Amino acid sequence: ANIETAAELDSVLKYGAEGVGLFRSEFDYFRQNAKPDEEMLFKSYRHLLATLDPLPVTIRTLDVGGDKFVEQLHSGALRLDLERNPALGLRSIRYTLHEQAVFITQLRAMLRASVHGRLRILFPMISSQGEFDRVMEIFNMVKDDLAREAVDFAREVEIGIMVEVPSAVVMADILAGGVDFFSIGTNDMIQYSLAIDRGNEYVAHMYEPLHPAVLRMIKQTVDAGHARGIEVGICGEMAGDVIAVPVLLGLGLDELSMRPSALPFVKRLLRHSNSRQLHDLGSRVLQCSDGPEVRSFLGAYLPQTYPEEFGLDHE
Ligand code: PEP
Ligand code: MG
Repeated sequence: ANIETAAELDSVLKYGAEGVGLFRSEFDYFRQNAKPDEEMLFKSYRHLLATLDPLPVTIRTLDVGGDKFVEQLHSGALRLDLERNPALGLRSIRYTLHEQAVFITQLRAMLRASVHGRLRILFPMISSQGEFDRVMEIFNMVKDDLAREAVDFAREVEIGIMVEVPSAVVMADILAGGVDFFSIGTNDMIQYSLAIDRGNEYVAHMYEPLHPAVLRMIKQTVDAGHARGIEVGICGEMAGDVIAVPVLLGLGLDELSMRPSALPFVKRLLRHSNSRQLHDLGSRVLQCSDGPEVRSFLGAYLPQTYPEEFGLDHE
């Protein structure tokens, strides 16, 4: 499941998730008009991890800027300059590498919480190996500090990156060598690959998750990850879009993470799927020339393959 606050833990369990594939950690930063301290973040992460233990909880480091929390960033505790083009600006991992004290505090809190459950750490918006190396330098320094202070933390925390910038897709074979898993962020991947501002109403109709360019990028990322023996998941909205799910499974994704209420229907689709058919579907859609062609193909394929789920009654 994808969640943003601990209040959603009930629905994670109720809808039968097998873990949290994406905890968007931003909310703790905007609850009050002051940066959260290490203790507050530690308690928040410990609660998540302990509640779901032994299920994995994937906590993403602070992903602000772009279209997220811009108002609060400009006026609140974090303070950022107004940017002409925020989606291409100081957002996400770029922000935390720029404001390292904020980053270090969050990493310390996560590592301290790691002994209370199964933590996976996810770094957003990585766009090059050098950038990821800088992240790991800081992460290793934080671990050394905690060890020196004799603070307990889990040594085997899994590390992943979000693949959501086109350069990360192109370099996925190299990036896969340094991580334990990939998580594809299709919300941003679509925006950056199709050059569509995801919040702009004038071009919203061009925001097409099933664009073959997007599907090919997903496939490239999956293949690069698998060649290095790592799992590749997807945590963008597309993972909970029932039309897209069979396609994603056909492209070889190992894990889907979505809003909790989408889980039961997606599980049902999975149970009624056949891996050989899915594989053929994946190959078929990769040959389509544009999004409408993929949609029209699926319009016939889905009711035929999943008559109960996509029969005439299904809207
Ligand atoms: C994404 O980009 O697909 C994603 C899951 O992250 P967010 O929507 O929080 O940017
Ligand atoms: Mg994103």
